[in-house]
Amino acid sequence: MKLPIEHLKKSPDAFRFVIERGWWSERFADVEDSGARLAEEPTMEIRARTAGESVHLEGEFRGMLDAECGRCTRRYRHALRESFRLVLAPLGDGETPPDPEGLQDLERSGMCLGKDLETGWYRGPEIELDAFFVEIISLEIPMQPLCRDECPGLCPVCGSNRTENNCNCDDIKPSSPFAALAALKEKTEGSS
Ligand SMILES: [Zn+2]
Ligand SMILES: [Zn+2]
Repeated sequence: MKLPIEHLKKSPDAFRFVIERGWWSERFADVEDSGARLAEEPTMEIRARTAGESVHLEGEFRGMLDAECGRCTRRYRHALRESFRLVLAPLGDGETPPDPEGLQDLERSGMCLGKDLETGWYRGPEIELDAFFVEIISLEIPMQPLCRDECPGLCPVCGSNRTENNCNCDDIKPSSPFAALAALKEKTEGSS
């Protein structure tokens, strides 16, 4: 996915890239193997402008995964959203980036990244953003997908999904102060 930077101006231009399923599968095969698939094709919206000789990019990645909850095993939609900023400084023909590995990237894609994901260098009329996109997307891939933060998961006694079905099994440990209170109340009422 290429961004022509030679015609950028001081006022930002908007660009929109649609990430195709084939592109995704090649780069995020491990995510697909874990059971999380693209629900739709993700997008990268970018506003790009110049500031002196530098190029400023500002944008947002948005996507939607069809994932399996790590606690209750239910399939759910997991929204992906990551904003980013990137400032690229020009690098002349004789100059080399601080990191020697960056030179290869620079020759291959017209840009290379600094240690963080917010700065880098460019050379030439266009930059190829694929490697940068992979870095940005990786920040948003969930390590343990959860249908919601407080997902109660499966009942340890009967195995039913507690999101969908309140099974009333006795817990070994009361899960909340309210549960403890309810148990206490039941006891007192039973003994009176
Ligand atoms: Zn869940
Ligand atoms: Zn149960």
